[in-house]
Amino acid sequence: MTTKMAINAKDIFRNQHRLIRFIEQSIRLCSNQSLKAAQQQQQQEKSTTADFEISASVNTQYTHAPEPIKHNKDLGDLFKASQMSVRLATPQQLHTKPDNDEELGFGKLFTDHMLKIYYHKSLGGWQKPEITPLENLVMHPAAKVLHYAVELFEGMKAYRGVDGKIRIFRPDMNMARMNLAAQRSGLPTFEGKEFVKCLSRLLSIDSEWVPHTEAASLYIRPTLIGIDPTLGVASSDSALLYSILSPVGSYFKTGSGDGAVSLLADPSYTRAWPGGVGNRKMGSNYAPTINVQNEAAARGLQQVLWLYGEDHQLTEVGTMNIFMFYINDQGEQELITPPLNGLILPGITRDSILAMARQWGKFKVRESVFTMPMVSELLNQGRLLELFGTGTACVVSPINRINYMDQDLYIPTMEQEKPVHELIRDTLTDIQYGKVDHPWSMVID
Ligand SMILES: *Cc1c(COP(=O)(O)O)cnc(C)c1O
Repeated sequence: MTTKMAINAKDIFRNQHRLIRFIEQSIRLCSNQSLKAAQQQQQQEKSTTADFEISASVNTQYTHAPEPIKHNKDLGDLFKASQMSVRLATPQQLHTKPDNDEELGFGKLFTDHMLKIYYHKSLGGWQKPEITPLENLVMHPAAKVLHYAVELFEGMKAYRGVDGKIRIFRPDMNMARMNLAAQRSGLPTFEGKEFVKCLSRLLSIDSEWVPHTEAASLYIRPTLIGIDPTLGVASSDSALLYSILSPVGSYFKTGSGDGAVSLLADPSYTRAWPGGVGNRKMGSNYAPTINVQNEAAARGLQQVLWLYGEDHQLTEVGTMNIFMFYINDQGEQELITPPLNGLILPGITRDSILAMARQWGKFKVRESVFTMPMVSELLNQGRLLELFGTGTACVVSPINRINYMDQDLYIPTMEQEKPVHELIRDTLTDIQYGKVDHPWSMVID
């Protein structure tokens, strides 16, 4: 076993909490051998992706480059990671880490620390970043977030690579997306690079919470809320940008055992509309989906397929982007996903898949609207090969059935010999878990 921790007195005092954790972790590691198992599995898997060997020379151009942030003139001071203060949890405040990384579920446990950055216009703008023990927030009951859902969030992950290093994936994309949502919410914008530096520090403090297995990762939830204690529907002059961390296993409980999910496609519900904010990760987009999700569950279906318009366009599945792999009218294999027309959340997984698939050049790749009547017809003609959702939480989620207008459409996603969704999933996770060196992966030190 190796450790970066040099044993000298100064380090012991400064890293007391880490030392305790390190000893606990060592005991866990020795007993469950999860790292060894992961390494063995990696060796076995090597052969399956050899077909599409990808390297650091992959085209890293953005499919849709994030727009540079334009700060409002009266924003005030920006924050800098170098101004950060750190208040560590006492040994008594440290939480017990989960024993079994495979049974984590999603977002139920949180790490010992959090990051907080306040914005107060009256104090000149952004304040100094702080890392504190994970603690409850105190706010005025009139805080705008509690009345008008002045809130937005991000979803990222930290992965422990096969080399033991911790990596995050394309964080610049999350920061750009977050700033666009801030702008649309009348909330203050910030420098994404500085926030990523703050997050890196938080991750290194809580690094032992990053699971030692490829079946799990540490979910990062940056959040921005308006906390002005006034009831006007207006820009918030005070805001809180914070992040919490949560060790997570796989996102979905699937019904079928093979990992595929079934969907409810009911055209009477709409998730997003032109001119709206369906393309931003704002809390207000998600509350109205919960009842529909419950209805799907009551009908024995796992997720909602969100349709739009008279022609029943497929837009997203649950909180994922959607992809279809099929034989097009020219008889060619084609991967298709809806375009970023305002109804679609600009997923980072989505963008990465488009960039990779275009570089592979093995099949056509297109961003275009497709509809339920098209899906039915392709199924009837045996031309629909795979349908899957994509996102940070699940990477790739294959779909095996859609309940549409009281009919079950069976999708042969799991019946393909060399499924494209598996190739995509394996390639992305190879990058995320550091099996291949790639500029999309950023190592935290
Ligand atoms: C977060 C999210 C996605 C996926 O985005 P990623 O950046 O790939 O995680 C897709 N659709 C919705 C509605 C989302 O909230």
